[in-house]
Amino acid sequence: MEIEQMYQEFGISRQVLNYALSVERELKERFAVIDETAEYNQMKVIQAMQKARVSDIHFAATTGYGYNDLGRDVLEKVYALVFHGESGLVRPQLISGTHALHVALSGNLRPGDELLSPVGKPYDTLEEVIGIRDSVGSLKEYGITYRQVDLLSDGSFDFEGIRKAINHKTKLVTIQRSKGYATRPTLSVTQIGELISFIKSIKKEIICMVDNCYGEFVERIEPTDVGADMIVGSLIKNPGGGLASIGGYIVGRQDCIDRASYRLSAPGLGKEVGASLGLNQSFFQGLFLAPTVVAGAIKGAILAANLYERLGFSVVPDGQESRHDIIQSVTLGTSEGVIAFCQGIQAAAPVDSFVIPEPWDMPGYDAPVIMAAGAFVQGSSIELSADAPIKEPYAVYFQGGLTWYHAKLGVLMSLQKLVDAGLITRKTF
Ligand SMILES: *Cc1c(COP(=O)(O)O)cnc(C)c1O
Repeated sequence: MEIEQMYQEFGISRQVLNYALSVERELKERFAVIDETAEYNQMKVIQAMQKARVSDIHFAATTGYGYNDLGRDVLEKVYALVFHGESGLVRPQLISGTHALHVALSGNLRPGDELLSPVGKPYDTLEEVIGIRDSVGSLKEYGITYRQVDLLSDGSFDFEGIRKAINHKTKLVTIQRSKGYATRPTLSVTQIGELISFIKSIKKEIICMVDNCYGEFVERIEPTDVGADMIVGSLIKNPGGGLASIGGYIVGRQDCIDRASYRLSAPGLGKEVGASLGLNQSFFQGLFLAPTVVAGAIKGAILAANLYERLGFSVVPDGQESRHDIIQSVTLGTSEGVIAFCQGIQAAAPVDSFVIPEPWDMPGYDAPVIMAAGAFVQGSSIELSADAPIKEPYAVYFQGGLTWYHAKLGVLMSLQKLVDAGLITRKTF
């Protein structure tokens, strides 16, 4: 058949293809549920755009100070409507997820306040923002202290520990939804809601902020639907839908967003300035596409989990688990395995497919790292991408895929490279 021939032209053997198709057939019902979530979220986005009366005038570019940037203001209204917040800050001037998180934190904390993470260590780049690792300009340098309560060994919240950690200084709680590159499970929105209720029952004026990176549109509800005062994320992940070429967002309570905006621009200026430079159309259109893009990425992750799990590799989340973010890890057990996997992802890319990724000593890491990314937007991780430190347990993390078909091709190519390298020993196919 024609499709089989196309896969063969990519070097995928009949054996690998038949194995993948047999696994895919078993995932039909799960994929149908994912499609339904995308359908729901698609309507949520369209409804918000209609309510905000989005019009083509909102795609026009502004320059300079960006006073009266209609598109920017309406985009922020759309984000607020989609995520059920009072206000939003959605800007190309928020240059990354880390920057958006820094603006949200530093805008809402004052000297003498304490920040609490009740879900263990936050994402790597936040360690220097907070001052967990000493760094110039950290919150710590401004007299903001930090406390952390780890999850219990079964991944659940340490409610007693959290109760003890909350004190008269506790001003803001940061909750990371996705496990990122840690080993704990990703939190469901319902779990986050339970945690927020518990925290507010102890001290109701605590600001609850959720690092929403990689979580947007995976479920039908978002943390703002279960009590979060602020959610924060990156536009080159889920909500940018692959079209946003830069940017971050903060959505939530009006006063929290206002304080963040005075930190992003300047006291007195806030949300009134900040030219959108012609990027608005891609922000609107990317948000419009995001629910289906996210659905494709989740399907790719689930296919990989099931393909590799059945070959005897350990995968997180496992093949059956419900999904709360788009990240998949596969423990391949050898450096040759992670290298072959990443080379397969690269070889499936629409951009830079001719490049062969190799491990290198990246600054800030204690082992060589290999990265596969053939993306239209540099560093975009809603596009199909994979990376792995070359060290025990030799696990690769991968995520994204702007379409399900590309995600599937990438997963198949990764498996083919492992087969070609003689690294698949099980005779299950
Ligand atoms: C990606 C990510 C960040 C940081 O985002 P950057 O855009 O890479 O700075 C923060 N938290 C989590 C959980 C992430 O996945």
